[in-house]
Amino acid sequence: MPRADNKSGLDTVLQAELDLLKAQGLRRVLRRLDSPQGIHVQLDGKSLINFSSNDYLGLANHPQLKEAARLAIEKFGVGAGASRLISGSLGPHHELEAALAEFKNTEAALSFNSGYAVATGVLPALLGKGDYLILDKLVHACIVDGARLSGARLRVFAHNDLAGLEERLAWARRQAEQAGADASGRLPRILVVTESVFSMDGDWAPLAEIVVLKERYGAWLMVDEAHGTGLYGPKGRGLLAELNLDGRAEIQMGTLGKAFGASGGFICGSRALIEYLLNRARSFIFSTAPPPAVAAAALAGVKLAQSSEGDQRRRMLWERVEQLRNGLAGQNWRLPPEKSAILPLIVGEEERAVRLSRQLQEAGFFIPAIRHPTVARGQARLRLTVSASHTSGEVAGLLEAMRGQSGAH
Ligand SMILES: *Cc1c(COP(=O)(O)O)cnc(C)c1O
Repeated sequence: MPRADNKSGLDTVLQAELDLLKAQGLRRVLRRLDSPQGIHVQLDGKSLINFSSNDYLGLANHPQLKEAARLAIEKFGVGAGASRLISGSLGPHHELEAALAEFKNTEAALSFNSGYAVATGVLPALLGKGDYLILDKLVHACIVDGARLSGARLRVFAHNDLAGLEERLAWARRQAEQAGADASGRLPRILVVTESVFSMDGDWAPLAEIVVLKERYGAWLMVDEAHGTGLYGPKGRGLLAELNLDGRAEIQMGTLGKAFGASGGFICGSRALIEYLLNRARSFIFSTAPPPAVAAAALAGVKLAQSSEGDQRRRMLWERVEQLRNGLAGQNWRLPPEKSAILPLIVGEEERAVRLSRQLQEAGFFIPAIRHPTVARGQARLRLTVSASHTSGEVAGLLEAMRGQSGAH
């Protein structure tokens, strides 16, 4: 047997690709932090002010979440042992799900190891080859991956383009009628998926109009509220609640790792939906349950978000957002019109985003450049995120450091 020559060895092949990424300004590296996630982080021995986390309410290092996790470790240990369907389903997961259902005003909820696991489990559980899946162009990678896994016929509409959505809904409805029921009597399904607040752009989906359209064409709607939950609506219930669209989306998705300060993902919806998913969602069935302490911490986060402290934190957050927006607008950055804690500074060229990020780091601010494949090529940006824990002095400091960086367009 001839030995593989050096040129086709694994490391040689991969190194060539890495070198290419580097040449394109797209190579990524991990940046080790030796501090908790928070506003002040320790990077390479230097203290930086963090404007990049999704810990919007400042709960990731909150004493109540830490205490909840500690108590749960004492009572339930660390590991969950197996999938919840195999070795018993621990109390903290049930408490968390009851709280999530109440929070979102739905019949039931189901928690997963991550938001990523939600999307890659739920979409293939609900849809298969004879079904139709319609996505906004900018939905999160986990939804794209779940869509591909499902095998459903996939159509993408331009970001927030209602005419494009309607066209695809009409097409799917026509196809579904033509196909009719299969041998077992199952009718083709049509599902629309969008985010409420888009993760890399900070703008909102036109949810009221999307709801009208999906109802007109007899489709279902799944809304990913990863960046809406905890921030909008009464008690932070989300953008659907803020827009009075409660009960109009069949499937509400969220993460426990952003505003709630812990880790994991969830679905809220009808009892039938939740029971179906725990029988069919493979990322739920074939994965060890999250540690009970993480569920307990998430529960503390859900409760905190609804408390008067939660209201206070949201007030602080939106004040800081307003301050940062006003300052950035004065520096000629174009920002999404909607109220959002995500403020993307689109600089375009990858190298330029990396350079700007480095300059800000030298000035004491941690804001990594967001590049392809997280966003489209040539759409590189600094994604500023604001937290309730930022002080107005820190926001002013960032604006000062940004001065002279405007004129991106
Ligand atoms: C972060 C995110 C997810 C994934 O959630 P994780 O809990 O981090 O896996 C899903 N959708 C959107 C829009 C997100 O921003």
